[in-house]
Amino acid sequence: MEDIAEIKELLSRPRNILISSHRNPDGDALGSSLALSLYLQQLGHKVEVVTPSEYPHTFEYLPQVRDIKIYDVHSEMVDPFLETCDVIFALDFNGLDRIDKLGGKISEVKDRSKAKVIMIDHHLDPEPFYDYGLSDTAASSTAELVFEFIQFLEDTRYIGPDIATCIMTGLITDTGSFKYNTRPATFICAAKMQERGIDVKEIQDAIFNSMKVKQMKLLAHALFKRMEILEEYETAIIVLNKYDYANFDIQRGDTEGIVNYMLMMKNIKLAAFITQQPQIVKISLRSKGDISVQEIARNHFRGGGHKNAAGGALYGSLSMVINKFKEVLPEYMEKVQIENNK
Ligand code: 5GP
Ligand code: MN
Repeated sequence: MEDIAEIKELLSRPRNILISSHRNPDGDALGSSLALSLYLQQLGHKVEVVTPSEYPHTFEYLPQVRDIKIYDVHSEMVDPFLETCDVIFALDFNGLDRIDKLGGKISEVKDRSKAKVIMIDHHLDPEPFYDYGLSDTAASSTAELVFEFIQFLEDTRYIGPDIATCIMTGLITDTGSFKYNTRPATFICAAKMQERGIDVKEIQDAIFNSMKVKQMKLLAHALFKRMEILEEYETAIIVLNKYDYANFDIQRGDTEGIVNYMLMMKNIKLAAFITQQPQIVKISLRSKGDISVQEIARNHFRGGGHKNAAGGALYGSLSMVINKFKEVLPEYMEKVQIENNK
């Protein structure tokens, strides 16, 4: 990181610091934010972690997760603190539109204060909203980059079991238990966290073996009743409509991971999971190999993400989004098919 000396200087006195992360925070958003917060608190800073919306119950085991402020609910508490902040961290997102109203508030405050924004992120195409950035799309997770950040600051001695639990959670969730997006640095980071005496199996169980019965039944329903295979395009789609949401009483986090099951089929290279939510229709995309779902999400669904995992959302009807996806699909899959046949 080029500006590390300036950042060191910035953090050399007790500061008010806000750590923001993205809407519908996942294990990496939460793990990286809480790890950074726990570290900064030890340096004597006053820190608030803020996400636009609620976190899934799965992550209740994370240290200090209950102290997270939800901007949808706590903006009256967050806004005055933000006015006093010297440093604002942006973790696990690459553009202020990913954090809804909080993004507008941050740019407003930044315009009239001296607050510096530090982005730590691993998504493609970051927008230039930050003063300092640790942006690395080759990193498995933002959690891995938070470890790197603490290393740059020569402060790894501050990493105890709590920070290690948070970082390990980010690593595990964003790599699907070390299946994708790994590089040697990912495993080195994991090893260093395990050295802090954490029980990795316990964390894996908390994340993956803690499904509610209704979640398991929803998964079965999604695969059995709501999946469509488009053989020609090596693509699978699952659609959940508003009746599914009502019948299964689907809550935040209940649909987590369903999209990945479709890639377990040998001939499926692209998976789309489309859900009808109260205001929007959300699309989650996953792919194997060279197919960039980030491009599909960015070009057609006002979203983005990573090459093999991306998402977006549109206002409009469920059928409009399904049709749009099917319409643009040939463009992306034909390109890949031509490449494969070369
Ligand atoms: P998921 O499908 O699990 O919601 O998200 C997969 C990846 O795509 C994550 O890295 C996430 O940040 C990104 N992503 C999901 N939804 C959106 C979106 O609406 N906008 C953008 N820019 N990225 C998204
Ligand atoms: Mn991430």
